[in-house]
Amino acid sequence: MPSNGRLAGKNAVITGAAGGIGLETSILFAKEGASVLMADISEPALEKALAKVKQLIPDAAGQIATQKCDVSKEADVQALVEAVDAWGGLDVMFNNAGIMHAQDDDAVNTPEAIWDLTQNINVKGVWFGCKHAVLSLRKHKKKNASIINTASVVALVGAATPQLAYTASKGAVLALTRELAMVHAREGFRFNNLCPAPLNTPLLQDWLGDDQPKRQRREVHFPMGRFGEAVEQAQAVLFLASDESSFVNGHDFAVDGGMTKAYVTPE
Ligand code: NAD
Repeated sequence: MPSNGRLAGKNAVITGAAGGIGLETSILFAKEGASVLMADISEPALEKALAKVKQLIPDAAGQIATQKCDVSKEADVQALVEAVDAWGGLDVMFNNAGIMHAQDDDAVNTPEAIWDLTQNINVKGVWFGCKHAVLSLRKHKKKNASIINTASVVALVGAATPQLAYTASKGAVLALTRELAMVHAREGFRFNNLCPAPLNTPLLQDWLGDDQPKRQRREVHFPMGRFGEAVEQAQAVLFLASDESSFVNGHDFAVDGGMTKAYVTPE
């Protein structure tokens, strides 16, 4: 694999790397010459994901490794980011791990424990990732870095099918990312949000199962008439991670087939 890819020479950490978006992004990053540290809470899933990356890109120019990490635990996130010190320090951090719990519901029916669990992973996990990315970038005196945080279209538009803890968590990701983008702009650290539409990944598809009305309730709102694919998100993350997006900062990048621009959709 040539080492002149779009991310050649960059060291990247990806959380939730065993899941839909995280794995596709790991594959693209590795193809484009980055060294990639893949992190996930599930070690078996991480092993399978690593095997897939190595099978698809046997001659990757950069290093590809894995590390178990629960993003809601600061010590785990710190250890994850510091593991990249051996490669020369972080250049790209993709804070992507997130959950949408089956018991997440409306204001009345969402259990408090589910609210707390969701905020701990989806919000606190992103904060820890950003915090330790900044510390690492300063330690290694980096002047050009990209941090990408996964929010969701539900942070931009309201859903009448409630998942209140998840929606609130993604709104928080959107807001904290914008502020960090401003606070760190003059250090050369860019922060952007990825806002995916509903996707063909286990996070949503396991939750929908074979409940056709539940699926229809969503599909009717997609201008392009389909769920998105994880690799379509990964392509956007690759752009945000690379120097091609060097003047893109504080952006909410909706990769949604036009969903958040819809009034009515084609029949
Ligand atoms: P996924 O379920 O396929 O992958 C998520 C991964 O995160 C899994 O591998 C899981 O093991 C891991 N994870 C869960 N808790 C963790 C923790 N505490 N620490 C570390 N890793 C943990 O889901 P996905 O669709 O790839 O989702 C990735 C991101 O995209 C999430 O933040 C999700 O909220 C967001 N998103 C997804 C959709 C969708 O429809 N799938 C839409 C909008 C936003």
